[in-house]
Amino acid sequence: MPAPSPATPAAPDPRRPLDRAPVVALAGNPNAGKTSLFNALTGQNQHVGNYPGVTVDKIVGRLAFEGRDIELVDLPGTYSLSAYSIEEVVTRDFVLRDRPDVVVDVIDSTNLERNLYLLLQLQELGVPVVGALNMSDEAERKGIHVDDKQLSKLLGIPLVRTVASRGTGKDALLRAVLDVADGRANSLARHLNYGEELEDKHEEVMRALETDAQFARSFSLHWVAIKLLERDPDARGKVEGSHANAAQVLEVADKASEWIKRHFGKDADVVVGEQRYAYIRGALREAVRVEPRTGRKDATELVDAVVLNRFLGVPIFLLVMLAIYALTFQLGNPLSDLVQRGFGMLGGLLGGVLPDGVLKAFLVDGIIGGVGGVLGFFPIALLLFLGLSFLEDVGYMARAAFVMDNFLHLFGLHGRSFIPLMVSTGCAVPGVMSARTLTNPRDRTLTILISPLMMCGAKTPVVAMLCAAFFPRYAALMFWGLWLFGWGTAFVTGMVFRKTLFRGEDSPFVMELPPYRLPTPRGVFTHMWHKAASYVRKAGTFILAASIVIWAALSFPRVTAYSTDYDAEARAIEAVTSARLAGAELPQDRRAAIERERARSLADLENRKRTEDAAASFAGRAGRFVEPVMRHAGFDWKVNVALFSGVAAKEVIISTLGIVYGLGGEEPDEADIAEAPLTSRIRADRAYSPASALALMVFVMIYIPCIATLAVARKELGSMKWPAFMAGYTLVLAWVLAVAIFQIGRLLS
Ligand code: GDP
Ligand code: MG
Repeated sequence: MPAPSPATPAAPDPRRPLDRAPVVALAGNPNAGKTSLFNALTGQNQHVGNYPGVTVDKIVGRLAFEGRDIELVDLPGTYSLSAYSIEEVVTRDFVLRDRPDVVVDVIDSTNLERNLYLLLQLQELGVPVVGALNMSDEAERKGIHVDDKQLSKLLGIPLVRTVASRGTGKDALLRAVLDVADGRANSLARHLNYGEELEDKHEEVMRALETDAQFARSFSLHWVAIKLLERDPDARGKVEGSHANAAQVLEVADKASEWIKRHFGKDADVVVGEQRYAYIRGALREAVRVEPRTGRKDATELVDAVVLNRFLGVPIFLLVMLAIYALTFQLGNPLSDLVQRGFGMLGGLLGGVLPDGVLKAFLVDGIIGGVGGVLGFFPIALLLFLGLSFLEDVGYMARAAFVMDNFLHLFGLHGRSFIPLMVSTGCAVPGVMSARTLTNPRDRTLTILISPLMMCGAKTPVVAMLCAAFFPRYAALMFWGLWLFGWGTAFVTGMVFRKTLFRGEDSPFVMELPPYRLPTPRGVFTHMWHKAASYVRKAGTFILAASIVIWAALSFPRVTAYSTDYDAEARAIEAVTSARLAGAELPQDRRAAIERERARSLADLENRKRTEDAAASFAGRAGRFVEPVMRHAGFDWKVNVALFSGVAAKEVIISTLGIVYGLGGEEPDEADIAEAPLTSRIRADRAYSPASALALMVFVMIYIPCIATLAVARKELGSMKWPAFMAGYTLVLAWVLAVAIFQIGRLLS
């Protein structure tokens, strides 16, 4: 049995109190409340999520407390400090290299055993630690009573109770942190005793390590020695890289671990882990009282019994998403119409006051048409983000990952792939980044390759617009179908890649299931805003720029000779109209009908002229150039131009269509065509049919990932090879499927 007794207290640093801003790092298990605490302390709005593994980078903030500046670093969540995952390496290297003055270990009080496992390892690193007993509200509710004084004494560190989501306890915590930073309180670098045999071997390795004084100054030898016994590859690397007698040290260490293995009959890291847990259990028995459970299941367990059911789990997930989309469209469509009409009117007003010419065309068609086209679908995107954020914050998304795990295995995909894929349904850029949580490079590359196939926030407006235009009664169902189609193509493509490019075993994983929590409205809205803000920012910058370029490419060179004299045709329409109106006394409704016909003929004429203009432009020529290939999918040159532009960012497809169709052109009084300008104009174009619209949606879902995704994939995978492959395979797959859909649709109709 390990003696739960401390050893080797570190002497307080004589240089204190600190004369600079102390650096304080927040460490802890995923979902322990680190980010909530970070936000409560700094007043920032960092993403608080229930996905383990979304935040793999550290986030830095500053705060002032009692006249002192403090620098705060939010580290990614980890269960341990071995070097198996990117989060563990980020956390560990930060503590080792940057040497924060204090590490605050955010402890989930409802799960002390697992959380203290990390705490012990932080202590082993030799940094001063302060524990935040977070989730203390929930622990009390569950009948877990922690004697924090007693536990603090046992562990040798200050402990403060907190409720991070409400900011409770933050002042006490900061005071404890400053006390430690300034040397007023001790946070002893207390090491648990691993038992006689292990301590002996540890001692041997320590002695070998001490032979290099330089090395001893840059690393905690105690920690390196344990890690060497555990055969930790990262620690071995550190020794090989910077210890003067690396070969000797490693020899001693290897002998020691072999001895331990023979003596205990298991690997040294297992023995060390068991000792840690034994110590924790001992400490908890002394400092924690758990009310006996009344046999009644709590709400989380009851809900999970249904939601995580082997047969119901996946259908429930699909239905939940269908409900989210149905709500989104039900509420979002009228709002989106309103915004679109607003931009249409703005364009009409500007068109009325500005003189004809390039400037007017640029402002009305280029800018209002382009940016307005994208922002018109903003309400739908916003509601969608709201729904997804809610599901995430409630804790449902983690369940979805859990139930999809088996499903993913059917396709030979790793269970953890679900998270990057689900994140990609918001945006593939963070999706590709969160594939870092897959430690096996094969699984990781594979996941990155299929992530862009998901329905993302940028494809949302395009697909939503086409659904609204061609399948108005079933828009939500269609949209959901395409969302599902994204998953389907990702799975099937993944399976094909797995069987061809990435053969091999897959590794198991454990999905954390946080308890359900009713999120605060503020939390959900912040979270939603995180996703939405980038959408608006993109519309204001990138899409604005792309709209200008596309408008120019669609406007120049100008037509030198039109196929017909449009001015003469317009005069003819006016003449015919006045002749008809000048006849005998006409009833009021008849007059109105003639006026409407005139307006419609003129708009039609305007459209023909505009189309002729666009067809002659650079972009139009490029669009026509690929027509022989794209025609098989039912796409004319206008669609091709939009698809070209969509490689920049998928939303731009809408702005390009907006420009081609002259979104801002109507007179405000033409009520019958002014409704939802782009949607109705596209519907009215005879070049489209439901089959070509469906083919277009499928094409947009699959073809070439946007530039941002390709760039981040290049960064993550370190070469141009995979992004190039991604662009190539998605283009071919998109074309084949779009052609199949269009041709089958044509046969059926
Ligand atoms: P992180 O993964 O450690 O950064 O954890 P987060 O800060 O993202 O928190 C995870 C979830 O726990 C969020 O839904 C928070 O609102 C919730 N949460 C955080 N601290 C507390 C707390 O003290 N009490 C309760 N009841 N919920 C909390
Ligand atoms: Mg976090």
